[in-house]
Amino acid sequence: MLRPILRLGDSILSEPARAVATITPEIETLIDDMIETMYAAPGIGLAAPQVGELKRVVVLDIDREDVKTGPLCMANPEVIDASDEDVTYEEGCLSVPEHYSDVARPAKVTVRYLDRDGETKELACEGLLATCVQHEIDHLDGILFIDHISSLKRNMILRKLLKARKEKERDEAEGKPATKLKMTAKEEAAEA
Ligand SMILES: [Zn+2]
Repeated sequence: MLRPILRLGDSILSEPARAVATITPEIETLIDDMIETMYAAPGIGLAAPQVGELKRVVVLDIDREDVKTGPLCMANPEVIDASDEDVTYEEGCLSVPEHYSDVARPAKVTVRYLDRDGETKELACEGLLATCVQHEIDHLDGILFIDHISSLKRNMILRKLLKARKEKERDEAEGKPATKLKMTAKEEAAEA
């Protein structure tokens, strides 16, 4: 089932999520819904708070020439090792539509998590997967990628989104069709 994705300004996105005790049927449904919602968006990662569930669950699927992960789901993911070296990627987020910013994060991380069968796994991540998994874990701590950039840039993004929302509300009030948002393939692929 597709779930609506919360946008910047929704207070749930800045709240910490709670650990999952076991993979119950309810969590399995949440995972299925999140994967479906991520593919439909489309995005390469999604965290449960983005669909309004304050649970420590994330899903990812990196499909690039250099790295193909297939759908991954992680409950209670935590970074247990990180490289000293950083890498900068231009990040986007399904909860902050149409905005992209360079964010520096450790280039390699090892993540420990519970998989869908409730087994503890460890995964060494690098490249886009390392960035994406750290971006998703941030969501579980109520952190958005724009929290890593300067307040000046962050305020500019917030004002633009508020302006777009006001215009949308005005158009709806006047009965105009909603303006369709257009994105390039590259941008679509980078949102998490
Ligand atoms: Zn995100």
